[in-house]
Amino acid sequence: MPQSYPAPLALPVYLDHAASTQVRPEALEAMLPFFTAEFANPSAHHEGGRRASEALERARETVAAVLGALPEEIVFTSGGTESINAAIKGVAQAQNDASGGRHILTTEIEHHAVLHSAQFLERFGFDVEVLPVDEYGLVTAEAVAAAVREDTVLVSIGYANNEVGTVQPLSEIASAVREAARALGRRIPLHTDAVQVATSLTLDVEALGVDLLSLSGHKFGGPKGTGILYIRRDVPFLEQASGGGQERQRRSGTENVPGAVGLATALQLAQAEREVFGARALALGERMLAGVRASCPDARLNGHPTQRLPHNLHLCFPGVEGEALVDALNAVGIECSAGAACTSATWEPSHVLLAMGVPLELAIGSLRLTLWPTITEAQVDYVIAQIPLAVKQLQAQAITI
Ligand code: PLP
Repeated sequence: MPQSYPAPLALPVYLDHAASTQVRPEALEAMLPFFTAEFANPSAHHEGGRRASEALERARETVAAVLGALPEEIVFTSGGTESINAAIKGVAQAQNDASGGRHILTTEIEHHAVLHSAQFLERFGFDVEVLPVDEYGLVTAEAVAAAVREDTVLVSIGYANNEVGTVQPLSEIASAVREAARALGRRIPLHTDAVQVATSLTLDVEALGVDLLSLSGHKFGGPKGTGILYIRRDVPFLEQASGGGQERQRRSGTENVPGAVGLATALQLAQAEREVFGARALALGERMLAGVRASCPDARLNGHPTQRLPHNLHLCFPGVEGEALVDALNAVGIECSAGAACTSATWEPSHVLLAMGVPLELAIGSLRLTLWPTITEAQVDYVIAQIPLAVKQLQAQAITI
């Protein structure tokens, strides 16, 4: 993997890359001038403004090339959450204006940015249908197509789940939705939350067949507070941030030039390296899983056994609370999460695991380990040694209580 990463310290072992990643040195370097000498507003009509605007447009072209899109189809945002909110609310409202339709289709295991955006629209009369998933967190193309209706304005299906890592058959879903829409004489846009996949899967919007795609910079070595929304050129969209008309009237507000430059640099590198990333992350994950299972045979791997993100290991340990396990591992220098970092402030069993039919007593004992190619075998072996110690101690405490 990239020579440019600094060698990780032996401790802590950071295994929370689904929550956030370190900014890549190449991205940081590309960004720096736009905090200092090249700080001008890209809308300004002077030389400094022109240079900032050029940098922004170069970043847009880079992102568009990675996605197989046109530069004008790329909107820079403040992150995954904003991209998803804009996609769902912006398309649903525009489609409703055009056709009066009110039906939004999604799944039970989406990120809360998707589910809460859709629920928000229910207050304004939209009808949100949340499709069930199977025990692996999969939804089939047939199930999505069968749920498409005359009044469907948007379908939103996550590319890969941020908790268990299951990857949906997205291009099959896209073909099935297109077919179902054609049979109704309609055009029904498909949005995907692709926030977790940039390091390991293709983002080619033509190959995937999606109409809208959301990304977040800090999940692939870019800066926090940066995101992308791809909007296919003919998809109706109402802007969610009104003001000066930046981003071709789709997202007003002075653009984050350093952020866009850093995000574009990181995205290009992440996509160029994704096969190497996947192979290395998978090898590390397999070593970790085999090692943990050797000492904790009752550990359960959640999500699909093969259709999964290569760097995601999501485990449940009977008789153990996920939060307590995260604390115990943190105490020995292992940083990971009990589920999704975004929801862990309010501890409740994961809606994803419950939707997959994981029993409540197991769902509360979940641990998400998300790897990175810079992790060493020695660090993996340290984790393999520490997890069983922590699990057994917590299981013993639960029995004595
Ligand atoms: N969607 C998924 C699948 C995520 O994993 C996350 C963050 O964890 C988000 C959306 C939100 O992204 P952001 O943190 O950039 O707002």
